[in-house]
Amino acid sequence: MVPLPRVFLAQLPTPCHPLPGYGADLWIKRDDLTGLALGGNKARKLEYLIADALAKGAKAIVTCGAAQSNFVRMASAACAIHSLEFHAIVMDHPYEDEPAVGARPWTGGNELLSELFGAHMIRLPDDTWDALYQAMDDHVDHLRSLLGGQVVVWPVGGSGPLGAFAFREAAQEIGENFHFIVFASASGSTHVGLAHAFRGSATQVLGIAVDPEPDLPLDFGKISVELGRLTGDQPLSAEEFRFDLRFVGPGYGVPSGGGEMWRREVARRSGILLDPIYTGKAFHGLMEMVRDKEIGGRILFWHTGGVPAIFAT
Ligand SMILES: *Cc1c(COP(=O)(O)O)cnc(C)c1O
Repeated sequence: MVPLPRVFLAQLPTPCHPLPGYGADLWIKRDDLTGLALGGNKARKLEYLIADALAKGAKAIVTCGAAQSNFVRMASAACAIHSLEFHAIVMDHPYEDEPAVGARPWTGGNELLSELFGAHMIRLPDDTWDALYQAMDDHVDHLRSLLGGQVVVWPVGGSGPLGAFAFREAAQEIGENFHFIVFASASGSTHVGLAHAFRGSATQVLGIAVDPEPDLPLDFGKISVELGRLTGDQPLSAEEFRFDLRFVGPGYGVPSGGGEMWRREVARRSGILLDPIYTGKAFHGLMEMVRDKEIGGRILFWHTGGVPAIFAT
């Protein structure tokens, strides 16, 4: 395949080091240290998304998500660097059928940073994801009537084929040195990229769900097909993704008891910050699986970032 256009946004490779003191041969991949706008896994995806948007002659970018979205924060900064107008349609806690119990509005954190980076944030009252997508489509139509065709839409979390491609590439930074890779899996391109990269190897790729939607792997299957079109890879089907729903807690965007406990433990034992929405829950899952001997050998925790959410109140 021809190399995909890419801009420089992330400090790569990110560090990967042992994490002693947890009763396992545990290592940590520090995508919290990608550098862009306080770091996180989205910097990898944005290197390809921005290059693609520039190649299309984009003036404005539109996406949607939660008000505390890490993708929105990092996309705001990436667009600022490349002089692209950036619009984000957000809700506090978009949901599938029913609002999550315990969901409450948050300010500060990622939202504050997105605004600081100059994003046009359009905040709507909580509703379903479908309502959020509809509002985004309406906004895109409105912008296209003003700007013509130069409006590019990015999927939630940057999870399309380009985002997955970024993680297929990221796998090369660690090679086949681990028995298990554990991480927080949400919109899917992290999971799809890693699963493609390690297919058929001795490394098992294990996503911990942070959203209680059991059908998400169907979306992963679709992203896998699109990634296959880009790379020639055989696509993976929904059942081929190991997506563990046991550690979601009350819902997407709502902290869990186990996640909060491990967030404090990791801060106090290792001086490393996990976030309440993604990485705290994923680390909780990892520790439960180590305890129950579901996983063993050399294990990598892929820290996907999210640190600014700690400062949301
Ligand atoms: C977006 C995000 C994830 C999930 O990555 P996806 O590619 O969307 O599945 C995990 N952790 C953090 C901190 C994130 O911001």
